[in-house]
Amino acid sequence: MQILLRAFLMILILIAIIVVSIILYKRWRPLRNAHFICPHCGSITTPGRIVLAISPARADSRLLQCASCGRVGYMQPVWDV
Ligand SMILES: [Zn+2]
Repeated sequence: MQILLRAFLMILILIAIIVVSIILYKRWRPLRNAHFICPHCGSITTPGRIVLAISPARADSRLLQCASCGRVGYMQPVWDV
């Protein structure tokens, strides 16, 4: 009984890890070819995959921190050509 319970718990944790990674991948995937322009100083930022995946979203913009001025704000994605 103890082994069964432990196996069930491990499968549950595995499924949770898979679901979280799928969600993070789906959040990052559409913005993989995009950069962001800071609304405060106008410089271009290209955040990393994990930052893009976990950053809060509003409509089609993401809450990100600017790399050059350090201020946080909602930035619109601009697609690379
Ligand atoms: Zn800035």
